[in-house]
Amino acid sequence: AKSHPQHRTEIALTDSISVGGEALFIIGGPCTVEDMAQMETVATHLLNAPVQGLRGGAFKPRTSPYKFQGLGEAGLEILATVRQRYELPVVTEVMAIDQIDAVAAHADLLQVGSRNMQNYDLLKALGQAGKPILLKRGLAATLEEFIMAAEYILSHGNPNVVLCERGIRSFDTYTRNVLDLGAVVALKQITHLPVIVDPSHAAGKRELVPALARAAVAAGADGLIVECHPEPEASVSDARQALSLPAMVELVNSLRPIAAAV
Ligand code: PEP
Ligand code: MN
Repeated sequence: AKSHPQHRTEIALTDSISVGGEALFIIGGPCTVEDMAQMETVATHLLNAPVQGLRGGAFKPRTSPYKFQGLGEAGLEILATVRQRYELPVVTEVMAIDQIDAVAAHADLLQVGSRNMQNYDLLKALGQAGKPILLKRGLAATLEEFIMAAEYILSHGNPNVVLCERGIRSFDTYTRNVLDLGAVVALKQITHLPVIVDPSHAAGKRELVPALARAAVAAGADGLIVECHPEPEASVSDARQALSLPAMVELVNSLRPIAAAV
């Protein structure tokens, strides 16, 4: 990923939507796919925001094994239906090699979560997935480690990797993580890959998300991935950081003048 910073990788997801080009690539949606009605409501509200991608976890990497682990294949079916109905690219996490085929069949961008950033066998296998990968920075990964993780995917045959800064661990617990915007600026300078930002998992609190999202765009991010939910407080996971759908639409609208200025 380090070789040609002056040449930029642009990844086309559909005829009109790409990551790493002129236009911002905004992904919105809940942490977890809960049911069809939830995803339909999200899609109808966000389609005209507009967002360019819909997120929702079917396989969830939960800190506690006693918490809901996601709908799995049933969640993928819901995503597939919504993807077709609204013609919106879908982003969802793949946690294990044996999930790759199923996730690749239904998603446009395969997410590797922070906890798996250095799962090298998974990264190697994703080199052959035939779909673009969204690689999230590890909880305490250096930029060198992050870039080398991307290299595992690239060197195994998949040139389409999007890097995602999602906050790193530090000493303060007021925010869930610390959003490292310096990393966004640096990654744009030293790699040719698109770089997007997840302000939701960085902040952990919804009232911090819009301003961090705007700061990320001002810092040169190619896009954002933001958690939002029809009933934020009722989210089965990450409720505290979920934006309402109107707040998400308002955020998307506020990004236009900033994107135009950078
Ligand atoms: C997520 O995007 O739902 C997620 C689990 O994020 P992360 O891997 O960054 O914690
Ligand atoms: Mn989440």
